[in-house]
Amino acid sequence: MSLNEAPAATAPEAVSTDTASRALQVWLDGAFVDADSPQSPVTTHAMHYGSSVFEGIRSYALADGGAAVFRLPEHLERMRKGAELLGIRFDPAQATEATLATLRRNGHRDAYIRPLAWCGTGSIGLDVGPQSQHLMVAAFPTLLHIGGEGARLAVSSWKRNPATSLPPLKLGGAYINSILAKHEAKRRGFDEALFTDTEGYVVECTGANVFMVHDGRITAVEHRDALPGVTRDTLVTLTGAELRAVKLEELKQADEVFIVGTAAEVARIAAIEERRFDATRVGNEVSAAYQRVVHGEDATYAGWLTHV
Ligand code: PMP
Repeated sequence: MSLNEAPAATAPEAVSTDTASRALQVWLDGAFVDADSPQSPVTTHAMHYGSSVFEGIRSYALADGGAAVFRLPEHLERMRKGAELLGIRFDPAQATEATLATLRRNGHRDAYIRPLAWCGTGSIGLDVGPQSQHLMVAAFPTLLHIGGEGARLAVSSWKRNPATSLPPLKLGGAYINSILAKHEAKRRGFDEALFTDTEGYVVECTGANVFMVHDGRITAVEHRDALPGVTRDTLVTLTGAELRAVKLEELKQADEVFIVGTAAEVARIAAIEERRFDATRVGNEVSAAYQRVVHGEDATYAGWLTHV
């Protein structure tokens, strides 16, 4: 697979943010505006230091013609934790209303939703508090997936932010770590980067958690520095996967590897460095089960849907 043929479903950037076809409306501090019209002053604190917290959420079209957001409260609770740590005001009830209103306003059913709370202007000192604070919610129509031959992972020379330095939450500045790893992987001709720690344990990818299958057994890779993913939690519930630490050598010996996240969904891995993976049976089954759940076709998990 060449660089330009990365499958649609392997990483967060695979979600289309193409706004060319019509003007998207974003919710910004309580009102709707054209996505391209708001302008941030160059003294915006978040622009200098990454003092922001965000989420990546998805809504799906349902068979009855409606749509539902998948596990919205869990995503907003993670955002609330990040905002609290940074000292940014955040009200999950307001964010819920803003999310649903944004989807309705744009007529979206299958959409990728991006709430962002950030520190604005008032001071460029490192104290958070003197600045204005803002919340916006944008939603982008998602592209249909085109299957794909699977992503090839490069083992990153960068280590994941250790949780003792940066909590595994969706804090804006923390994502520079993912950007560095992704940039390196792409430069080496791979699709995505895999983080390991100094001891050789697998952590996660730049925007997705890691699973492996060995002799039919599914394992969700566990690591304190990895983001506790909502998709990972969903799949552990659906499959009963065991949770444990896994070294890179063991991951390379697996029969199948897949990475999971809101944007990636369940994306098969075709290779880790020189090691190729050909089997896909379990990953395909897990992916199909996930698709049934997010599209509201599995009544057991109807409680995970917030109807738009
Ligand atoms: N790890 C990282 C670093 C991520 O950014 C994401 C995407 N939010 C994930 C894992 C997967 O998390 P989720 O399933 O909640 O989208």
